[in-house]
Amino acid sequence: MKSSELFTRTFKQAPAEEVSKNAQLLIRAGYVYKVMAGVYAYTPLGLRVIENIKQIVREEMNAIGGQELIMSSLQRRETWEATGRWDDEVVDIWFKSKLKDGTDVGFGWSHEEAIIEMLKTFLSSYKELPINVYQFQTKLRNELRAKSGIMRGREFIMKDMYSCSVNAEQHEAFYQSSIEAYKKVFERVGLGENTYVTFASGGAFTQYSHEFQTICDAGEDKIYMVPSTGEAFNEEVAPAKAPALDSQEDQKPLEVIDEPGVIGVAAICKQFDLRPNQTTKTMLYKADDGTVVAAVVRGDYDVNEDKLKAVLGASRVRLLDEDTIGQLTGAELGYAGILNLPDTVRLVVDEACEGLVNFETGANHTGQHAVQVNWERDVPRPETFYDIKTVKEGDRHPDSGEVYTIHKTAEVGNIFNFGIQKSKDTNFVFTDENGGQQYVHLGSYGIGVTRLMGVMAENFSDEKGLVWPDAVAPFRVYLARLGDDEAVVRSADTLYEELMHEGIEVLYDDTDRRPGEKFADADLLGMPHRIIVSPKTVAADQYEYKKRTEQSSTTVSKDDLKMLLTR
Ligand code: ATP
Ligand code: MG
Repeated sequence: MKSSELFTRTFKQAPAEEVSKNAQLLIRAGYVYKVMAGVYAYTPLGLRVIENIKQIVREEMNAIGGQELIMSSLQRRETWEATGRWDDEVVDIWFKSKLKDGTDVGFGWSHEEAIIEMLKTFLSSYKELPINVYQFQTKLRNELRAKSGIMRGREFIMKDMYSCSVNAEQHEAFYQSSIEAYKKVFERVGLGENTYVTFASGGAFTQYSHEFQTICDAGEDKIYMVPSTGEAFNEEVAPAKAPALDSQEDQKPLEVIDEPGVIGVAAICKQFDLRPNQTTKTMLYKADDGTVVAAVVRGDYDVNEDKLKAVLGASRVRLLDEDTIGQLTGAELGYAGILNLPDTVRLVVDEACEGLVNFETGANHTGQHAVQVNWERDVPRPETFYDIKTVKEGDRHPDSGEVYTIHKTAEVGNIFNFGIQKSKDTNFVFTDENGGQQYVHLGSYGIGVTRLMGVMAENFSDEKGLVWPDAVAPFRVYLARLGDDEAVVRSADTLYEELMHEGIEVLYDDTDRRPGEKFADADLLGMPHRIIVSPKTVAADQYEYKKRTEQSSTTVSKDDLKMLLTR
């Protein structure tokens, strides 16, 4: 394509209110146009990047048996009611509207329910399974924060795939093949080395789901990695062993202190001259089976509700409200602790509390805290200590004993096993060999296509602009002629035609702008290869060639040039 035919141009500055690097660069280079916060349009250049990413994803999804389709953006209320997710409290990113006759409609933020509904009209027998379908869809989400440029849009392109299997084994085999397919996608776009398969929470009947997390400063996530193996966990699930405190202190006498109004770890530390790791935090929960639980972590940690649920075998835990706490312990909120805890409450204590000596805990009386508390002497020592805390810096991976390294990351994809839960909720069944009815095993598999483009803009760029890898660049070559000398124009035009003829995509800057502007554009636009045709190169019957990733250019013949550009 010729620059003179491209309607976009480059800008010296991005809009002042745009804070993210990826959007700043992409706007300046004319790849995206900002409509409003979290909403971006893609120009021909941007669209080419998206299409290149999509094609790579498409090839890898097809290779594992995916069938491409496209669902609608408007969705029925009833579709989501079956699984209880029409509720704004459950899915807080809904955009909704009404038809003129008052019928509710939702704007598709995800499609698993809608796809199940559609597949139900086709699937009857086990002979038709497995079915794996995917689409590239513009998802609409009322995201609360939209400060990460195209990495978190209110409108963004996702590849979502859904697998339907006859049983757990068939599901598992597909799930594993999807992990391999995802790895290939991220390798092909040049992010393989920096993308980690990460354990994440969720998954019906499985302890974990998996996320694909790419190391990226602008990412909104954090992963905890075992240095020697590269095994990675997200913050929600990372098993954690606190560093040992090695307290050699002698036990001091228990003191219960009346100091009303001292609530929370910070205030307690100040009032009683303690460090947070000498205090405890007690949170009272009710599990879905009615069990009331006191979850206790050291004062420098937080309770991780996912881990607590796993310990209890509960699918839901809810913090008790102030009134219920009052009825249960007789104390106001803020004074719950291990001392004087009613027998009806199950005590679940985090492992970081095991070695505590002379620690602080609430006394379950309004205004009272206990200090210099010791296990056994003052409160019964739990038979088992659990890991119910949210991991933090300095913690170890319990199995290997290694201290985690922490990385800022962006979630570029995730995969999820629904088991048969969603099929039960939606009555998604098939007839098995014996004529019986069985629930379909379901999985879902997402990749954030536009987020991936944003991560690439973040990770593949320098102070001068974008640095696209060959696999996704909108054009592989940026060709510029310097000046309008007849021989120069002829040489550049000819080269352009020849490269196009060989299937090498070229953006040809055929304008009469100054060389400095063309060089600056070449860097900002970020095509992997730059070729310059000037009076000097024409005189020598050569071309000036430079890779975007390299600092200096070389002079090469046409044959060499074609060799350099052949993949
Ligand atoms: P996040 O935790 O980042 O909000 P999510 O858990 O909501 O992601 P899914 O709904 O499972 O993600 O979507 C699948 C993929 O779509 C994600 O892995 C991510 O790459 C991408 N994605 C999710 N939300 C956005 C968004 N607002 N803008 C761009 N990409 C997104
Ligand atoms: Mg989200």
